[in-house]
Amino acid sequence: MAERPHQDLVDFASNNGWDRAYEQYDDFDLPTYVGLPTFMKLPWVPGAAELRARKADIAIIGAPFDDAVSHRPGARFGPRAIREAQYTSGSINSLQLGVEPFEVLDVVDAGDANIVPAWIDRAHAFIYRKVRDVAATGAIPIVLGGDHSITWPSATAVAEVRRPGSIGIVHFDAHADTANEDWGVLAGHGTPMRRLIESGAVKGSNFVQVGLRGYWPPVETFEWMRANGLRWHLMREIEERGADAVIDDAIAEALDGPDAVYISVDIDVIDPGIAPGTGTPEPGGLLPREVLRAIRRIAGSVEVAGMDIVEVSPPYDHAEVTAMAANRIALECISALAKKRLDGHPVRFEGADRR
Ligand code: MN
Ligand code: MN
Repeated sequence: MAERPHQDLVDFASNNGWDRAYEQYDDFDLPTYVGLPTFMKLPWVPGAAELRARKADIAIIGAPFDDAVSHRPGARFGPRAIREAQYTSGSINSLQLGVEPFEVLDVVDAGDANIVPAWIDRAHAFIYRKVRDVAATGAIPIVLGGDHSITWPSATAVAEVRRPGSIGIVHFDAHADTANEDWGVLAGHGTPMRRLIESGAVKGSNFVQVGLRGYWPPVETFEWMRANGLRWHLMREIEERGADAVIDDAIAEALDGPDAVYISVDIDVIDPGIAPGTGTPEPGGLLPREVLRAIRRIAGSVEVAGMDIVEVSPPYDHAEVTAMAANRIALECISALAKKRLDGHPVRFEGADRR
């Protein structure tokens, strides 16, 4: 029997062909399942000082918080799922908009707010601080929730940074989220829009809701909305007039006074047959293509002050379809803003630099 060569003398790499000059790739260009799961494999830049120094145009923020839900939990896992729900990497190109967004804009992932479980007040405080710190650098925050209660601190932070200007809000949701309280809790996910308006962060007359439907408790909510000048568009109106006409009205209403818009997308505005991973599903909703088109049209035609995408609950999702829709909503906003930059319009909030 022949003696096997002593392993010290064997060049395994050469013998096995592992010393070939393979090309190596940057993390950004590797497949999405390799490396750190930042949004679209963009740079992880959690510090405000660095955001300011590089003049980042857009910053993704995670708000992994769901202690304020009224029904199904799980949205605390939303930011990570939304970051992961994509298979393209590197410098991608939008067919719908004809733009490579990451060649045009500096888009980064600014990390998550400093959240611990079971403490609503603390979570909202840290979401407010994180969004305010990012927005104050001039970068446009895109916040991944989290339950919808996070819109109260997030939109408040953006409104504050925009002073003395003001923001309007276009709110996509099956629900108005304007209840006074959820079983006595003022900061539940059914109440953030009332808190935003009551506190003076946003005027009721510049608050526009799109996609409301379903079965709710009786009329007190709508009485309050009417008394405070909110505008809303039921799903029924979209069925009758078409989404484009309704979105045109929503843009005009949100901008009737303010100079920029904050977009808040509760993923349950999409039909739960298509986006089941959410806390309070309401059958009869929009198609993803209608929401994506609406986002393109809004971001392409008005100044975007900030955005959130909320209520994605991965435990109720399957095949990542809800997380993918949310990922694409963020990406569609980014691409529309990139197209706008190419056309010569500003994207960053330059007012932040003068503060
Ligand atoms: Mn909802
Ligand atoms: Mn909501």
